[in-house]
Amino acid sequence: MIQLYIPLNFLGVIYREIKQNLTDLDKMFTLMDREREVADAPRAEPLRTNGPVDVRFEDVHFAYEAARPILHGISFDVPAGKTVAVVGASGAGKSTLARLLFRFYDVGRPGHPEEPTGRILIAGQDIRSVTQASVRCAIGIVPQDTVLFNDTVAYNIRYGRPEATDAEVEQAARAAHIHDFIQSTPNGYATMVGERGLKLSGGEKQRIAIARTLLKDPPVLIFDEATSALDSANERAIQAELRQAARGKTTLVIAHRLSTVVDAHEILVMDGGRIVERGTHLALLAAQGRYAQMWALQQSAERDDTAD
Ligand code: ATP
Repeated sequence: MIQLYIPLNFLGVIYREIKQNLTDLDKMFTLMDREREVADAPRAEPLRTNGPVDVRFEDVHFAYEAARPILHGISFDVPAGKTVAVVGASGAGKSTLARLLFRFYDVGRPGHPEEPTGRILIAGQDIRSVTQASVRCAIGIVPQDTVLFNDTVAYNIRYGRPEATDAEVEQAARAAHIHDFIQSTPNGYATMVGERGLKLSGGEKQRIAIARTLLKDPPVLIFDEATSALDSANERAIQAELRQAARGKTTLVIAHRLSTVVDAHEILVMDGGRIVERGTHLALLAAQGRYAQMWALQQSAERDDTAD
């Protein structure tokens, strides 16, 4: 019996190990979302990013499921090196824009090839015509909720550019203002994080994601702001770091706090999968429409917060 017990027990350990790693993989695919549904076109070439890298959405239509269209003809440009911010109610389709740009999904409505789909261009190239890998190489994402791998801090940052040296990893961590925190942990950059290691706060995780993105140094950035999880002091600090990271990059910001979009080249206000208002902060305030209303509401909420 004991002879049988040992291998079974051992199998149990292996099973748990595999299961944990599958969880990691699963998380990665959640991060990468429907990656497996999107395939490279035959003879797809890598995206060319040697000139100015602008981003353009041209009449983009999209549905996750055929029965429920989500985006209805979205068009906008992010000129090279500029920031465009997207705001709007929950469920308006803001994060969907980010997922399409990263090509987690292709534009269009599944099962309806006869309908217009529009297209998404990076540096003038339709992202469906180039390799997925090269699109993802060109884009850095700081998501709402950063998933860390069950590995060391260094590994998690280096994931942005596997060949980076220790000095480069540290430099990115300094720029993301997470270096001092890392140094204060028991094993510094060798500290294990993730579910089985040191638990990090939402802000610390986001800073790791920023460091990872700084290290990757891509021409295009997507920031999907956290809806909650951060207190306002932390939020402001992260915003400052994000702004610094975005300098000179073509950036799409999915914003939940309007205070973070004031300097954007253009602000898109979305509702029900459509852009219902667009312009600079000042122009939108002057228009006294939806954005001006949202701004007034958020200003008074922030005043109440400070009064508390
Ligand atoms: P929030 O501000 O809450 O993050 P959002 O504007 O970013 O919201 P999206 O995440 O883009 O909204 O979602 C737009 C719509 O698409 C929502 O109605 C949502 O339920 C739906 N949706 C999002 N992801 C999926 C999915 N994987 N499958 C099916 N429907 C989805």
